[in-house]
Amino acid sequence: MSGYGCEKCMDTGYVLKRQDGYDISVKCECYEKLMYRRRLRRSGISAEMQKKGFKDFECRGTDVLEQAKTKAVGYYRRFLNIENSRHNSIILCGQVGAGKTHLGMAVCNNLLNVCHVEVVYMAYRNAITEIKQAVTDKEDYYAATEPYRRARVLYIDDLLKGKPTEADLNILYELINYRYMHNKPMIISTEKLPDELIDFDEAVGSRIIEMCRGNIVVLQGKELNYRLYSQKES
Ligand SMILES: [Zn+2]
Repeated sequence: MSGYGCEKCMDTGYVLKRQDGYDISVKCECYEKLMYRRRLRRSGISAEMQKKGFKDFECRGTDVLEQAKTKAVGYYRRFLNIENSRHNSIILCGQVGAGKTHLGMAVCNNLLNVCHVEVVYMAYRNAITEIKQAVTDKEDYYAATEPYRRARVLYIDDLLKGKPTEADLNILYELINYRYMHNKPMIISTEKLPDELIDFDEAVGSRIIEMCRGNIVVLQGKELNYRLYSQKES
């Protein structure tokens, strides 16, 4: 054992390929997976969370959680059949601590590892801040937003977290509209409820809700808050 996740590229993401007598550097087959892991690492999501699957998602006898899990599992299993359809995305809404991040991660991990579909991870708040810094330069802006536009599947974590400015919303609209026009799937987690999303920004909200039709998961209710519970018990 060498300790590398990928023996071919030794976790660099690139391999040498012989072409016309020269060695050229090309992306390894693990490239997207590697980039996804890197973005996750930078996001501050714990390594433990990054391993989350459906098996360790506890429903604690709660109907809301059972249904949420069933929907999320169903979504990834049907993914390859619905990928090019109008309703090819999923949204997980609800309060902090209800389990939406776990479910979102489980969908991503299964798409990556079981379906071999590349997912690009976008930590909403950080990504928007980075993009804003590049907004005055056309090329920089394009480079900063391209991975999120181009991704086969885009996971937007904590959409609309914080207090968005006009500039944030313009960036978001451009991204969501691009993916909407090109029918590119998204996995979205947000504290906003579907109605709130539409109230907040109709152009962005209505596109998201349309793409997620049939795969809208709402996690709401005091009994769903893990952290609240563990605080009470201690
Ligand atoms: Zn590799």
